[in-house]
Amino acid sequence: MDKIRMTTPIVEMDGDEMTRILWKMIKDHLILPFVDLKSEYYDLGLEHRNATNDQVTVDSAMAAKKYRVAVKCATITPNAARMEEYDLKEMWKSPNGTIRAILDGTVFRTPIVVKGIEPCVKNWKKPITIARHAYGDVYKGTEMKIPGPGKAELVYTAEDGTEYRELIHEFEGPGIVQGMHNVNASIESFAKSCFQYALDIRQDLWFATKDTISKKYDHTFKDIFQEIFDRDYKEKFEEAGITYFYTLIDDAVARVMKSEGGYIWACKNYDGDVMSDMVSSAFGSLAMMTSVLVSPDGCWEYEAAHGTVQRHYYKHLKGEETSTNSVATIFAWSGALRKRGELDNSRELMDFAGRLEKATLDTIEEGKMTRDLALITTIPEPVVLNSEDFILEIAKKLETV
Ligand code: NAP
Ligand code: MG
Repeated sequence: MDKIRMTTPIVEMDGDEMTRILWKMIKDHLILPFVDLKSEYYDLGLEHRNATNDQVTVDSAMAAKKYRVAVKCATITPNAARMEEYDLKEMWKSPNGTIRAILDGTVFRTPIVVKGIEPCVKNWKKPITIARHAYGDVYKGTEMKIPGPGKAELVYTAEDGTEYRELIHEFEGPGIVQGMHNVNASIESFAKSCFQYALDIRQDLWFATKDTISKKYDHTFKDIFQEIFDRDYKEKFEEAGITYFYTLIDDAVARVMKSEGGYIWACKNYDGDVMSDMVSSAFGSLAMMTSVLVSPDGCWEYEAAHGTVQRHYYKHLKGEETSTNSVATIFAWSGALRKRGELDNSRELMDFAGRLEKATLDTIEEGKMTRDLALITTIPEPVVLNSEDFILEIAKKLETV
Protein backbone atom coordinates (compact mmCIF):
# COMPACT_ATOMS: atom_id res chain seq x y z
CA MET A 1 0.00 0.00 0.00
CA ASP A 2 1.30 3.47 -0.87
CA LYS A 3 1.81 5.74 2.08
CA ILE A 4 -0.25 8.92 2.29
CA ARG A 5 1.81 11.88 1.17
CA MET A 6 1.90 15.23 2.97
CA THR A 7 2.68 18.57 1.34
CA THR A 8 3.28 20.76 4.41
CA PRO A 9 4.90 19.63 7.66
CA ILE A 10 3.19 19.60 11.01
CA VAL A 11 5.12 20.69 14.08
CA GLU A 12 5.87 17.77 16.36
CA MET A 13 6.55 18.61 20.02
CA ASP A 14 7.87 15.58 21.90
CA GLY A 15 7.51 15.43 25.68
CA ASP A 16 8.23 13.56 28.88
CA GLU A 17 7.92 10.34 30.88
CA MET A 18 5.22 7.77 30.05
CA THR A 19 3.64 9.90 27.36
CA ARG A 20 7.04 10.11 25.62
CA ILE A 21 7.12 6.31 25.56
CA LEU A 22 3.57 6.21 24.14
CA TRP A 23 4.50 8.90 21.60
CA LYS A 24 7.13 6.69 20.00
CA MET A 25 4.84 3.64 19.96
CA ILE A 26 2.05 5.66 18.33
CA LYS A 27 4.40 6.94 15.66
CA ASP A 28 5.98 3.54 15.00
CA HIS A 29 2.77 1.51 14.85
CA LEU A 30 -0.03 3.90 13.91
CA ILE A 31 1.45 6.75 11.89
CA LEU A 32 4.69 5.89 10.09
CA PRO A 33 3.44 2.65 8.43
CA PHE A 34 0.57 4.59 6.83
CA VAL A 35 1.69 8.19 6.37
CA ASP A 36 4.83 9.54 4.75
CA LEU A 37 5.09 11.84 7.75
CA LYS A 38 6.46 15.31 7.25
CA SER A 39 7.06 16.90 10.62
CA GLU A 40 9.38 19.50 12.05
CA TYR A 41 10.51 17.85 15.28
CA TYR A 42 11.11 19.73 18.54
CA ASP A 43 12.20 17.86 21.64
CA LEU A 44 10.35 19.45 24.56
CA GLY A 45 11.53 16.73 26.93
CA LEU A 46 12.71 18.41 30.12
CA GLU A 47 16.37 17.48 29.59
CA HIS A 48 16.46 19.20 26.23
CA ARG A 49 14.51 22.22 27.49
CA ASN A 50 17.14 22.54 30.21
CA ALA A 51 20.01 22.12 27.74
CA THR A 52 18.62 24.86 25.48
CA ASN A 53 17.62 27.21 28.34
CA ASP A 54 14.03 26.56 27.21
CA GLN A 55 14.74 28.13 23.80
CA VAL A 56 13.37 24.95 22.18
CA THR A 57 9.90 25.70 23.58
CA VAL A 58 9.92 29.18 22.08
CA ASP A 59 11.24 27.82 18.77
CA SER A 60 8.51 25.18 18.64
CA ALA A 61 5.82 27.80 19.23
CA MET A 62 7.27 30.00 16.46
CA ALA A 63 7.21 26.96 14.16
CA ALA A 64 3.55 26.38 15.11
CA LYS A 65 2.84 29.97 14.05
CA LYS A 66 4.60 29.32 10.75
CA TYR A 67 3.06 25.94 9.84
CA ARG A 68 -0.22 26.52 11.72
CA VAL A 69 -0.64 22.91 12.89
CA ALA A 70 1.18 21.26 15.80
CA VAL A 71 0.85 18.10 17.86
CA LYS A 72 2.25 18.11 21.39
CA CYS A 73 3.12 15.36 23.87
CA ALA A 74 2.51 16.00 27.58
CA THR A 75 5.45 17.69 29.29
CA ILE A 76 6.66 18.13 32.85
CA THR A 77 6.06 21.52 34.42
CA PRO A 78 9.05 21.77 36.77
CA ASN A 79 8.58 22.14 40.52
CA ALA A 80 11.07 21.85 43.40
CA ALA A 81 11.18 18.03 43.17
CA ARG A 82 11.87 18.17 39.41
CA MET A 83 14.69 20.70 39.95
CA GLU A 84 16.52 18.01 41.86
CA GLU A 85 15.42 15.03 39.77
CA TYR A 86 16.64 16.62 36.51
CA ASP A 87 19.36 18.83 37.98
CA LEU A 88 17.78 21.87 36.32
CA LYS A 89 19.52 25.22 35.83
CA GLU A 90 16.23 27.04 36.46
CA MET A 91 12.64 26.21 37.28
CA TRP A 92 11.55 26.55 33.63
CA LYS A 93 8.03 27.77 33.03
CA SER A 94 5.19 25.53 31.93
CA PRO A 95 5.68 24.86 28.18
CA ASN A 96 1.92 25.12 27.68
CA GLY A 97 1.97 28.58 29.25
CA THR A 98 4.87 29.68 27.02
CA ILE A 99 3.22 28.32 23.86
CA ARG A 100 -0.15 29.83 24.79
CA ALA A 101 1.45 33.24 25.38
CA ILE A 102 3.11 33.16 21.94
CA LEU A 103 0.05 31.87 20.05
CA ASP A 104 -2.38 33.98 22.13
CA GLY A 105 -4.86 31.17 22.02
CA THR A 106 -7.78 29.57 23.78
CA VAL A 107 -7.81 25.95 24.90
CA PHE A 108 -10.77 23.75 23.89
CA ARG A 109 -11.19 20.48 25.75
CA THR A 110 -13.41 17.75 24.38
CA PRO A 111 -14.25 14.32 25.83
CA ILE A 112 -13.83 11.34 23.52
CA VAL A 113 -17.16 9.55 23.57
CA VAL A 114 -17.17 5.78 23.11
CA LYS A 115 -19.76 3.07 23.69
CA GLY A 116 -19.06 1.27 26.94
CA ILE A 117 -17.76 4.36 28.75
CA GLU A 118 -21.01 6.06 29.68
CA PRO A 119 -21.29 9.62 31.03
CA CYS A 120 -22.77 9.99 34.54
CA VAL A 121 -25.35 12.36 33.07
CA LYS A 122 -27.51 9.92 31.17
CA ASN A 123 -28.92 12.38 28.62
CA TRP A 124 -25.41 13.45 27.44
CA LYS A 125 -25.09 11.73 24.07
CA LYS A 126 -22.53 13.97 22.36
CA PRO A 127 -19.38 15.60 23.69
CA ILE A 128 -19.49 18.99 25.38
CA THR A 129 -16.44 21.08 24.55
CA ILE A 130 -15.29 23.58 27.16
CA ALA A 131 -13.45 26.74 26.07
CA ARG A 132 -11.84 28.46 29.03
CA HIS A 133 -10.63 32.05 28.91
CA ALA A 134 -7.05 31.89 30.11
CA TYR A 135 -6.35 35.44 31.29
CA GLY A 136 -7.20 37.60 34.28
CA ASP A 137 -10.16 37.89 36.65
CA VAL A 138 -9.60 36.30 40.05
CA TYR A 139 -6.37 34.65 38.79
CA LYS A 140 -4.75 38.08 38.59
CA GLY A 141 -6.64 39.49 41.56
CA THR A 142 -5.28 41.72 44.32
CA GLU A 143 -6.69 41.17 47.76
CA MET A 144 -6.66 42.95 51.08
CA LYS A 145 -7.79 42.09 54.56
CA ILE A 146 -9.58 45.05 56.11
CA PRO A 147 -8.66 45.22 59.80
CA GLY A 148 -11.44 47.52 61.03
CA PRO A 149 -13.71 50.49 60.30
CA GLY A 150 -12.82 52.62 57.24
CA LYS A 151 -13.55 53.25 53.60
CA ALA A 152 -12.41 51.01 50.70
CA GLU A 153 -12.41 52.48 47.18
CA LEU A 154 -11.44 51.53 43.63
CA VAL A 155 -9.12 54.19 42.17
CA TYR A 156 -8.07 54.52 38.52
CA THR A 157 -5.47 57.18 37.69
CA ALA A 158 -5.41 58.09 34.00
CA GLU A 159 -2.10 58.95 32.31
CA ASP A 160 -2.90 62.67 32.61
CA GLY A 161 -3.31 62.27 36.37
CA THR A 162 -7.10 62.41 36.51
CA GLU A 163 -8.48 60.17 39.24
CA TYR A 164 -11.71 58.20 39.07
CA ARG A 165 -13.09 56.63 42.24
CA GLU A 166 -15.82 54.17 43.13
CA LEU A 167 -16.74 53.36 46.68
CA ILE A 168 -16.48 49.66 47.43
CA HIS A 169 -17.71 49.72 51.01
CA GLU A 170 -17.76 51.77 54.21
CA PHE A 171 -16.50 49.19 56.68
CA GLU A 172 -17.86 49.28 60.22
CA GLY A 173 -15.69 46.36 61.27
CA PRO A 174 -13.15 43.91 59.80
CA GLY A 175 -13.70 42.41 56.35
CA ILE A 176 -12.07 41.61 53.02
CA VAL A 177 -11.78 43.20 49.56
CA GLN A 178 -10.58 42.01 46.17
CA GLY A 179 -9.66 43.92 43.01
CA MET A 180 -9.50 42.12 39.69
CA HIS A 181 -9.20 43.08 36.06
CA ASN A 182 -9.31 41.99 32.47
CA VAL A 183 -8.29 43.66 29.22
CA ASN A 184 -10.44 44.08 26.13
CA ALA A 185 -7.72 42.74 23.83
CA SER A 186 -7.68 39.41 25.64
CA ILE A 187 -11.46 39.12 25.71
CA GLU A 188 -11.52 39.90 21.97
CA SER A 189 -9.04 37.20 21.08
CA PHE A 190 -10.92 34.75 23.32
CA ALA A 191 -14.15 35.59 21.48
CA LYS A 192 -12.54 35.27 18.04
CA SER A 193 -10.97 31.91 18.89
CA CYS A 194 -14.36 30.63 20.09
CA PHE A 195 -16.26 31.78 17.00
CA GLN A 196 -13.50 30.46 14.73
CA TYR A 197 -13.48 27.07 16.43
CA ALA A 198 -17.28 26.78 16.35
CA LEU A 199 -17.20 27.31 12.58
CA ASP A 200 -14.35 24.87 12.32
CA ILE A 201 -16.16 21.98 13.98
CA ARG A 202 -19.65 23.19 13.00
CA GLN A 203 -21.11 23.23 16.48
CA ASP A 204 -23.20 25.82 18.31
CA LEU A 205 -21.40 28.14 20.68
CA TRP A 206 -22.77 28.95 24.14
CA PHE A 207 -21.40 31.74 26.28
CA ALA A 208 -22.55 32.76 29.73
CA THR A 209 -21.62 35.31 32.41
CA LYS A 210 -23.42 37.01 35.29
CA ASP A 211 -24.07 40.31 33.51
CA THR A 212 -27.29 41.04 35.44
CA ILE A 213 -25.28 41.38 38.64
CA SER A 214 -21.91 42.45 37.22
CA LYS A 215 -23.26 45.24 35.02
CA LYS A 216 -19.90 46.61 33.88
CA TYR A 217 -17.40 43.78 34.28
CA ASP A 218 -19.31 40.75 33.00
CA HIS A 219 -21.41 42.94 30.74
CA THR A 220 -18.23 43.95 28.89
CA PHE A 221 -17.58 40.27 28.11
CA LYS A 222 -21.13 39.92 26.81
CA ASP A 223 -20.85 43.09 24.70
CA ILE A 224 -17.49 42.22 23.17
CA PHE A 225 -18.72 38.76 22.17
CA GLN A 226 -21.89 40.23 20.65
CA GLU A 227 -20.04 42.98 18.73
CA ILE A 228 -17.54 40.58 17.21
CA PHE A 229 -20.28 38.09 16.40
CA ASP A 230 -22.49 40.67 14.67
CA ARG A 231 -19.59 42.20 12.76
CA ASP A 232 -17.56 39.18 11.65
CA TYR A 233 -19.36 35.90 12.25
CA LYS A 234 -23.13 36.24 12.00
CA GLU A 235 -23.32 35.43 8.29
CA LYS A 236 -20.71 32.70 8.50
CA PHE A 237 -22.68 31.05 11.32
CA GLU A 238 -25.89 31.21 9.27
CA GLU A 239 -24.14 29.64 6.29
CA ALA A 240 -22.75 26.88 8.50
CA GLY A 241 -26.17 26.32 10.11
CA ILE A 242 -24.93 26.93 13.65
CA THR A 243 -25.95 29.43 16.32
CA TYR A 244 -24.36 31.65 18.94
CA PHE A 245 -26.31 31.55 22.19
CA TYR A 246 -25.76 33.85 25.17
CA THR A 247 -27.37 33.31 28.55
CA LEU A 248 -26.75 33.76 32.27
CA ILE A 249 -24.24 31.38 33.84
CA ASP A 250 -26.76 29.76 36.21
CA ASP A 251 -29.19 29.27 33.35
CA ALA A 252 -26.37 27.77 31.27
CA VAL A 253 -25.50 25.27 34.00
CA ALA A 254 -29.13 24.14 34.24
CA ARG A 255 -29.42 23.78 30.45
CA VAL A 256 -26.12 21.90 30.16
CA MET A 257 -27.33 19.26 32.61
CA LYS A 258 -30.51 18.73 30.59
CA SER A 259 -28.91 18.90 27.14
CA GLU A 260 -27.71 16.04 24.98
CA GLY A 261 -24.34 17.76 24.35
CA GLY A 262 -22.80 18.50 20.99
CA TYR A 263 -21.85 22.17 21.46
CA ILE A 264 -19.02 24.39 22.68
CA TRP A 265 -19.42 26.10 26.04
CA ALA A 266 -17.24 29.19 26.38
CA CYS A 267 -16.49 30.09 29.99
CA LYS A 268 -14.81 32.93 31.81
CA ASN A 269 -11.58 31.91 33.53
CA TYR A 270 -13.02 30.81 36.89
CA ASP A 271 -16.18 29.25 35.44
CA GLY A 272 -13.99 27.31 33.01
CA ASP A 273 -11.73 26.06 35.80
CA VAL A 274 -14.71 24.69 37.72
CA MET A 275 -16.90 23.52 34.85
CA SER A 276 -14.15 21.74 32.92
CA ASP A 277 -13.49 19.43 35.87
CA MET A 278 -17.21 18.82 36.27
CA VAL A 279 -17.68 18.01 32.57
CA SER A 280 -14.53 15.88 32.25
CA SER A 281 -15.19 13.78 35.33
CA ALA A 282 -18.85 13.29 34.38
CA PHE A 283 -17.78 12.06 30.92
CA GLY A 284 -15.48 9.42 32.32
CA SER A 285 -11.75 10.09 32.48
CA LEU A 286 -8.98 12.59 31.77
CA ALA A 287 -7.34 9.91 29.70
CA MET A 288 -10.28 10.24 27.28
CA MET A 289 -10.08 14.01 26.82
CA THR A 290 -8.39 15.93 24.04
CA SER A 291 -7.27 19.49 24.11
CA VAL A 292 -6.55 21.93 21.30
CA LEU A 293 -5.10 25.40 21.52
CA VAL A 294 -6.61 27.63 18.84
CA SER A 295 -5.17 31.06 18.12
CA PRO A 296 -7.40 33.89 16.87
CA ASP A 297 -5.39 34.08 13.62
CA GLY A 298 -5.79 30.35 12.91
CA CYS A 299 -3.10 28.10 14.41
CA TRP A 300 -4.00 24.78 16.00
CA GLU A 301 -1.97 22.86 18.58
CA TYR A 302 -3.37 19.45 19.57
CA GLU A 303 -2.55 17.50 22.72
CA ALA A 304 -3.93 15.17 25.38
CA ALA A 305 -5.56 16.82 28.40
CA HIS A 306 -3.69 14.62 30.90
CA GLY A 307 -0.11 14.91 32.15
CA THR A 308 2.94 12.71 31.67
CA VAL A 309 1.53 9.88 33.84
CA GLN A 310 4.57 9.90 36.11
CA ARG A 311 3.54 6.98 38.31
CA HIS A 312 3.28 4.63 35.32
CA TYR A 313 6.64 5.85 34.01
CA TYR A 314 8.42 4.91 37.23
CA LYS A 315 6.90 1.42 36.95
CA HIS A 316 8.09 1.27 33.33
CA LEU A 317 11.61 2.27 34.40
CA LYS A 318 11.62 -0.59 36.92
CA GLY A 319 10.79 -2.96 34.06
CA GLU A 320 7.22 -3.51 35.21
CA GLU A 321 4.35 -3.75 32.75
CA THR A 322 2.15 -0.67 32.33
CA SER A 323 -1.36 -0.26 31.00
CA THR A 324 -1.39 3.43 30.11
CA ASN A 325 -4.20 4.80 28.00
CA SER A 326 -2.92 6.30 24.74
CA VAL A 327 -6.32 7.34 23.33
CA ALA A 328 -6.04 11.08 24.03
CA THR A 329 -2.55 11.18 22.52
CA ILE A 330 -3.70 9.22 19.45
CA PHE A 331 -6.55 11.71 19.02
CA ALA A 332 -4.06 14.58 19.29
CA TRP A 333 -2.28 13.06 16.27
CA SER A 334 -5.49 12.44 14.34
CA GLY A 335 -6.67 15.98 15.11
CA ALA A 336 -3.45 17.50 13.79
CA LEU A 337 -3.36 15.30 10.67
CA ARG A 338 -7.02 16.07 9.90
CA LYS A 339 -6.39 19.81 10.26
CA ARG A 340 -3.28 19.54 8.03
CA GLY A 341 -5.42 17.70 5.50
CA GLU A 342 -8.08 20.42 5.61
CA LEU A 343 -5.58 23.25 5.18
CA ASP A 344 -3.74 21.44 2.37
CA ASN A 345 -6.85 20.04 0.71
CA SER A 346 -5.77 16.45 1.22
CA ARG A 347 -8.81 14.21 1.37
CA GLU A 348 -6.52 11.21 1.96
CA LEU A 349 -5.03 12.71 5.10
CA MET A 350 -8.46 13.68 6.46
CA ASP A 351 -9.75 10.17 5.77
CA PHE A 352 -6.75 8.64 7.51
CA ALA A 353 -7.47 10.71 10.64
CA GLY A 354 -11.04 9.41 10.64
CA ARG A 355 -9.87 5.81 10.20
CA LEU A 356 -7.33 6.11 13.00
CA GLU A 357 -10.04 7.37 15.36
CA LYS A 358 -12.48 4.70 14.27
CA ALA A 359 -9.90 1.93 14.72
CA THR A 360 -9.20 3.22 18.24
CA LEU A 361 -12.86 3.40 19.26
CA ASP A 362 -13.72 0.06 17.61
CA THR A 363 -10.94 -1.62 19.58
CA ILE A 364 -12.43 -0.35 22.85
CA GLU A 365 -15.97 -1.22 21.81
CA GLU A 366 -14.79 -4.78 21.14
CA GLY A 367 -13.81 -4.90 24.80
CA LYS A 368 -10.03 -4.45 24.39
CA MET A 369 -8.78 -1.59 26.51
CA THR A 370 -6.30 -0.30 29.09
CA ARG A 371 -6.81 -0.82 32.82
CA ASP A 372 -8.20 2.67 33.58
CA LEU A 373 -11.09 2.06 31.15
CA ALA A 374 -11.64 -1.56 32.20
CA LEU A 375 -12.38 -0.23 35.70
CA ILE A 376 -15.22 2.01 34.50
CA THR A 377 -16.61 0.29 31.40
CA THR A 378 -20.10 -1.15 31.11
CA ILE A 379 -18.78 -3.76 28.64
CA PRO A 380 -18.81 -7.17 30.35
CA GLU A 381 -15.48 -8.94 30.91
CA PRO A 382 -13.17 -6.46 29.18
CA VAL A 383 -9.71 -7.62 28.09
CA VAL A 384 -7.06 -5.52 29.83
CA LEU A 385 -4.10 -4.84 27.55
CA ASN A 386 -0.70 -3.37 28.34
CA SER A 387 0.36 -0.03 26.86
CA GLU A 388 1.97 -1.48 23.73
CA ASP A 389 -0.49 -4.30 23.07
CA PHE A 390 -3.38 -1.84 23.07
CA ILE A 391 -1.64 0.20 20.37
CA LEU A 392 -0.83 -2.99 18.42
CA GLU A 393 -4.52 -3.99 18.52
CA ILE A 394 -5.43 -0.59 17.11
CA ALA A 395 -2.78 -1.03 14.39
CA LYS A 396 -4.36 -4.37 13.39
CA LYS A 397 -7.80 -2.73 13.23
CA LEU A 398 -6.41 0.15 11.22
CA GLU A 399 -5.51 -2.26 8.40
CA THR A 400 -9.19 -3.19 8.11
CA VAL A 401 -11.27 -0.01 8.67
P1 NAP B 1 -1.21 12.89 35.13
O1 NAP B 1 -0.06 12.61 34.28
O2 NAP B 1 -2.38 13.48 34.46
O3 NAP B 1 -1.64 11.54 35.89
C1 NAP B 1 -2.35 11.50 37.08
C2 NAP B 1 -3.00 10.13 37.26
O4 NAP B 1 -4.12 10.04 36.42
C3 NAP B 1 -2.09 8.99 36.84
O5 NAP B 1 -1.24 8.61 37.87
C4 NAP B 1 -3.12 7.94 36.46
O6 NAP B 1 -3.71 7.35 37.61
C5 NAP B 1 -4.19 8.78 35.81
N1 NAP B 1 -3.93 8.98 34.36
C6 NAP B 1 -3.71 10.14 33.71
N2 NAP B 1 -3.54 9.93 32.41
C7 NAP B 1 -3.66 8.60 32.21
C8 NAP B 1 -3.56 7.75 31.08
N3 NAP B 1 -3.30 8.27 29.85
N4 NAP B 1 -3.74 6.43 31.24
C9 NAP B 1 -3.99 5.91 32.44
N5 NAP B 1 -4.10 6.66 33.57
C10 NAP B 1 -3.92 7.99 33.46
O7 NAP B 1 -0.79 13.87 36.29
P2 NAP B 1 0.47 13.82 37.27
O8 NAP B 1 1.06 12.43 37.35
O9 NAP B 1 0.00 14.50 38.47
O10 NAP B 1 1.51 14.75 36.57
C11 NAP B 1 2.66 14.26 35.92
C12 NAP B 1 3.33 15.41 35.19
O11 NAP B 1 2.49 15.85 34.15
C13 NAP B 1 3.64 16.61 36.06
O12 NAP B 1 5.02 16.87 36.01
C14 NAP B 1 2.86 17.76 35.42
O13 NAP B 1 3.62 18.94 35.39
C15 NAP B 1 2.62 17.27 34.03
N6 NAP B 1 1.38 17.76 33.37
C16 NAP B 1 1.50 18.12 32.06
C17 NAP B 1 0.39 18.52 31.35
C18 NAP B 1 0.56 18.89 29.91
O14 NAP B 1 1.63 18.80 29.37
N7 NAP B 1 -0.49 19.27 29.25
C19 NAP B 1 -0.86 18.55 31.97
C20 NAP B 1 -0.97 18.15 33.30
C21 NAP B 1 0.16 17.76 34.00
P3 NAP B 1 -3.17 6.01 38.31
O15 NAP B 1 -1.77 6.33 38.75
O16 NAP B 1 -4.13 5.83 39.44
O17 NAP B 1 -3.22 4.91 37.30
MG1 MG C 1 -8.57 23.46 38.00
